[in-house]
Amino acid sequence: MNKFILFSVFSILTFNVMAQKKIVQTAGRDQLGEFAPKFAELNDDVLFGEVWSRTDQLGLRDRSLVTITSLISQGITDHSLVFHLQSAKKNGITRTEIAEIITHIGFYAGWPKAWAAFNLAKNVWAEDTAGEDAKAAFQREMIFPIGEPNTAYARYFTGNSYLAPISRDQVNISNVTFEPGCRNNWHIHKASKGGGQMLIGVAGRGWYQEEGKPAVEILPGTVIHIPAGVKHWHGAAADSWFAHLAFEVAGENTSNVWLEPVTDEEYDKLPKD
Ligand code: MN
Repeated sequence: MNKFILFSVFSILTFNVMAQKKIVQTAGRDQLGEFAPKFAELNDDVLFGEVWSRTDQLGLRDRSLVTITSLISQGITDHSLVFHLQSAKKNGITRTEIAEIITHIGFYAGWPKAWAAFNLAKNVWAEDTAGEDAKAAFQREMIFPIGEPNTAYARYFTGNSYLAPISRDQVNISNVTFEPGCRNNWHIHKASKGGGQMLIGVAGRGWYQEEGKPAVEILPGTVIHIPAGVKHWHGAAADSWFAHLAFEVAGENTSNVWLEPVTDEEYDKLPKD
């Protein structure tokens, strides 16, 4: 396959990533339809139309991983590998992961092949910072979106948090994501009747603490009931991204009272992993 076929292939391929539809490919016919009509047909209709399209059997990210491993193992480190690396990035492989993948391949396929692949991969992932990379990796382990920077409440948080509205009908539910070490200030959900808050851990590892009590670890699936009127905080562990769903429990005369930050001294006393 020449690089022009592959270039067209991946602009079309990534367009279909979210939709999980059958991949429509015309690059083979566009480039080789006259010269090698059967090859063009196999490229468009079989390789892409049938094999790459079977995302219900194996996702595009895994298919990218298999493809780049195959190319590097054969020592194919020309433009076709660049296009497949770009595709792998679009399909969700992070900078940290590609570094690990090529290091691993190096032991099985040969050191010089890994060196050649690294020289290309470095450029493809050049603009990704380590922090964004960690955030992208965290998003992949979680079914709910990270959402947008939680700017409206930033003054009540230590560190960066993100907010995604999940439900705004019947029950108000938000997904709150905390970077490692991030936590909200001590606060109280007030109500004259009912009220309070419920948390369900979604991904990563975090903490919930009521005043005067030991902190409780929150893992995916952990359910925390916070009665109205109880002073508490919640947030990430020092070494882990963390997300929880926050449910607003219906009540009368509800309001939130934000208090002092959880100091580093208090936070550093929490058990380490
Ligand atoms: Mn709360």
